[in-house]
Amino acid sequence: MTSLPERLDSPERLAAPVAILAELTHRCPLACPYCSNPLALDPREEELSTSDWTRVFSQAAQLGVLHAHLSGGEPAARQDLALIITHCASVGLYTNLITSGIGLTQDRVRELAQAGLDHAQLSIQDSDAPSADRIAGYKGAFARKQAVAEWIVQAGLPLTVNAVIHRANISRAGKMIELAVRLGARRVEIAHTQYYGWGLLNRAALMPSRAAAEAAIAEVEALKKTLAGVIVIDHVIPDYHASYPKACMGGWGKRGLNVTPTGKALPCHAAETIPHLEFWNVRDHAIVDIWTNSPAFNAFRGEDWIREPCRSCPRKTIDYGGCRCQALALTGDAREADPVCHLSPYHAKIAAIAAQNEDAGGAPIYSYRRMKQREPAE
Ligand code: SF4
Ligand code: SF4
Repeated sequence: MTSLPERLDSPERLAAPVAILAELTHRCPLACPYCSNPLALDPREEELSTSDWTRVFSQAAQLGVLHAHLSGGEPAARQDLALIITHCASVGLYTNLITSGIGLTQDRVRELAQAGLDHAQLSIQDSDAPSADRIAGYKGAFARKQAVAEWIVQAGLPLTVNAVIHRANISRAGKMIELAVRLGARRVEIAHTQYYGWGLLNRAALMPSRAAAEAAIAEVEALKKTLAGVIVIDHVIPDYHASYPKACMGGWGKRGLNVTPTGKALPCHAAETIPHLEFWNVRDHAIVDIWTNSPAFNAFRGEDWIREPCRSCPRKTIDYGGCRCQALALTGDAREADPVCHLSPYHAKIAAIAAQNEDAGGAPIYSYRRMKQREPAE
């Protein structure tokens, strides 16, 4: 094992990341209007090669990373996915496949399980088939996902179901949890839409009314109690209707890093929206060097950058002032407190946006996330 730089040798100064989120590709057959990928999607020709990725995972494991989240886009669009999983297993990384399910066959699921995959996370768009297909912009996606869930469970893999909540499906949050139970999931993640990237572009079509958000929160919290012991429910409540922000990514440059399909290392998936940050590429720098020295990772570490009201707030060690990307998007300055916080001088702006985007009725019109635009599913 190579020796670690001084900052990493001193855990009190800089701990190693727990997880790496690898966006293996931005290609995806689905077109979800809340997709967290950037608006400018990386083209296939510029994606990292198999050997680039295996080098990255070796370096991550050597640094002390425990979890490799294999994401996208749709990671199954990469023909070398099983090779990548085999490599991750060989260097001791716990692998989690984050998939839409589209592009997987039963044989492929078995192949991935045999390669050493530890866990699969399958997205669903709704519990109602026509609505799910419309949200995904892909006819037949709902039916296909039922089959994929069955193959995952049959392959002996623990299954988590992910559901992103927004105006078109919020009245069925509870039904989606019931669907996850029927699909054999051990865990379901109910996450209200985050307004970055495609989500921000589609905010007016995605944001639910306050009444609908409050009803869904109450329904999910009640199901957490009634389904205790049946399924674990992780609930990410909607930012625009909260009083305190989340500790985004567990703190900037504290717990994890993302690597884009073309190799840029990011402190969070939306970090590229912050201008003037310098991102290093895994093609040019080792993971340990990026984690320790990259300007983007160091930009919001420590406390020097923190402004009031966060600077004198006791919660700054809990939420780190919230999300830097949301602060930038809503205040124009990434160093401000996340305006989700009721103590932020910009908090009223959040309430105004939420009110402006109240459900006007009718089917929402989406700008679908596609590399090339085409007609959505009916
Ligand atoms: S959110 Fe939808 S479009 Fe984006 S990567 Fe996931 S499945 Fe594909
Ligand atoms: S003032 Fe800052 S640190 Fe305090 S709760 Fe609000 S966002 Fe968090």
